[in-house]
Amino acid sequence: MSERMKIFEGDITTLEVDAIVNAANNSLLGGGGVDGAIHRAAGPQLLAECVTLDGCRTGEAKISGGYDLPSKHVIHTVGPVWDGGRANEDALLADCHRNSLMVAEENGLKTVAFPAISTGVFGFPKERATRIAVREVRAFLDQDVGVEQVTFVCFSERDFDLYQRVLGMALD
Ligand code: ADP
Repeated sequence: MSERMKIFEGDITTLEVDAIVNAANNSLLGGGGVDGAIHRAAGPQLLAECVTLDGCRTGEAKISGGYDLPSKHVIHTVGPVWDGGRANEDALLADCHRNSLMVAEENGLKTVAFPAISTGVFGFPKERATRIAVREVRAFLDQDVGVEQVTFVCFSERDFDLYQRVLGMALD
């Protein structure tokens, strides 16, 4: 199982995978953080396609082309804004991971990379989010699916250490 889940520290826009997941907002028309980085790296054609996607509900996921990115596709999902944990945030974050992977599966994709959805501007506590992300991806990969490998992309060494701990890898 461990070789099907990887951790990468760096910029998700550099990854040559079948799809990178974007932590988008409901409009799908771009924003800051990882969303801004993905749109900058993909070029203006990504926004032109996103305009046709008609937005995305929190917890759901939609696919587009990758354009100038090294990844073939972008799967846009919208994480919950953290509101103290009483607004169904855990279930919605789980939905983001599950629905993104279902979209990948429906499109015959084999390699997918996730950023740490909702843990930036949306304020979701990092360890709690990491546990949900890892649990959902593991449960998905445990089924009989075509998706072969999922990479968790960490934008800092601290996030990398957190993912390593949650994935249960030995730290020496
Ligand atoms: P959200 O609005 O869902 O919280 P953010 O983009 O603000 O989304 O942050 C989500 C996560 O993405 C954060 O952990 C942030 O550090 C990380 N991030 C920002 N830019 C990049 C990037 N280029 N590659 C990978 N991760 C990134």
